[in-house]
Amino acid sequence: MENIFFPTQSDDEGRLKFAPYSLRKIEAALLEYGFTKDEVIIADPRKLDRAIGPETKAIGLTVHDPLGYSAVSQLNACLFRLINWWPAPSYTAAAFGDIIKNPLLKKYNSKLIIGGPGIWQLEEHPEMFKEWGIDCLVSGEAESIAGPLFESAVKGEAVLPERAASGKPLRSDKVPIIRGPSTGGVVEITRGCGRGCQFCTPNLLFFGSIPKENILKEVEIEVRHGIRRIELHSEDALFYGRKLGSFEVNHEAIVDLFTSVKKFPGVRQVATDFFACSTIKSAPKTVKAMSEIMELDKKHPGYVETGLETVSPRLVQNIMPGKVKPYTIEEWPDVIDDALGILDDNHWFTVASMMTGLPKETEQDVIRSIEFIDRIKHHNVFVWVFPLMPLRAMLKNAAKWAPEYTPLRQELILKATRHSISLINREAPRILKVLPVWARPPALLALKYVTGMTLHFFKGADEAIARHEDRLNLYKDLQYAHNKEGEAVMHVSSVVNELVKIGGGSTTLLPEEEQNLLQGS
Ligand code: SF4
Repeated sequence: MENIFFPTQSDDEGRLKFAPYSLRKIEAALLEYGFTKDEVIIADPRKLDRAIGPETKAIGLTVHDPLGYSAVSQLNACLFRLINWWPAPSYTAAAFGDIIKNPLLKKYNSKLIIGGPGIWQLEEHPEMFKEWGIDCLVSGEAESIAGPLFESAVKGEAVLPERAASGKPLRSDKVPIIRGPSTGGVVEITRGCGRGCQFCTPNLLFFGSIPKENILKEVEIEVRHGIRRIELHSEDALFYGRKLGSFEVNHEAIVDLFTSVKKFPGVRQVATDFFACSTIKSAPKTVKAMSEIMELDKKHPGYVETGLETVSPRLVQNIMPGKVKPYTIEEWPDVIDDALGILDDNHWFTVASMMTGLPKETEQDVIRSIEFIDRIKHHNVFVWVFPLMPLRAMLKNAAKWAPEYTPLRQELILKATRHSISLINREAPRILKVLPVWARPPALLALKYVTGMTLHFFKGADEAIARHEDRLNLYKDLQYAHNKEGEAVMHVSSVVNELVKIGGGSTTLLPEEEQNLLQGS
């Protein structure tokens, strides 16, 4: 099954043919530092027995969602609870568990270095580092420190620091250029964001646009290995080439970049992944130009993600005042509505995220979100409401509140999901065009069946909410202390663990500081 959903291609040594982009960047950094191609291997996780041997001195692991705390894993867990179904734990957590427990990792005394956007989940559990065998946890832009770190590990000269962080931000023209093709033909065009949302990890990186010549060098590598569809990755493609500190879109730079990539010999299709609604609204001309370059039309729409998060002015002010700029906080709902309209007009489908369970969120805020979904649902927009996003920059706040999943919040999560599933059902033939022709009919049948069954189960969940039956059954037995100000104090990992554990069966891991707090309370 894994091979169908997450196929990998690798040679007899276990060297991946197409590798995750972030690992390609680390590989490039190590090669630039002086390691040779024979010394560095991006290994197929299913062939570790071939890739790891007595000569393996250091193993690097990149993680996105190692403990299943990510917003998507939480939403899945929440939905499964609401429909009264208790499936296996998060796939990502199970996959991390399999890898980290693999005896090969420590068989030859190799050092284990872990980085990636999901390390915040591991940082929640320093008491587990020893059991997991982690020698060093890397945060930030690992390219700038990977060389010396792996050199120390390989030479065995010194004990590695338990934590390592990149110091100065990497200049965008110094970001190493990948040496092999990436999974999905990803090519990074900007790094960082600068809008300053509190819950956001990419925001912690310094904003910069990668020079066009470096982007095209990576496109050339992808094409040379048979990739025809290039995914230009950024936190907001409309920020490419913008001046630091300004929210003005650089129309010429964007058009020039997208045209150059589209016309690059061998490239058939160009895609991109993120836009912010405020930049879309401020630059309809640029969105139109990009869509024309990408040759989008009714039959071949584009897909892009955007974060709406909340429409409550008070919460916007608290957690993401920069997201709405150059507009005012009060204008945010209109900005979203207009931006989605611009995307519709230019043949885009939008995948939008919202949140509930934020610190200080009231029932009135939840009602606003419910009403807002009604307002925007005529657009081509999939809306997912995530229960809780305790990402890195929010941890301090997260430790000071215990979210309550009231019937209204459950209704909000269900409403958004039902809308999105219905849209998937309606648009299935168009969505499945990304598959080869022979695979479309069985995929269509499978998709229709799954979406139909999900909607059927949701009816039961609606009735349960109307009866005030608490199917989420969260936080009933969870202990938490109060600080001097009377605020509930609980660590984010205990909150999330409560949500993602299955049927009350798993053990909640608590960080030491919280255990002390609870014992002392
Ligand atoms: S706009 Fe998006 S990428 Fe930028 S800081 Fe906010 S959430 Fe992060």
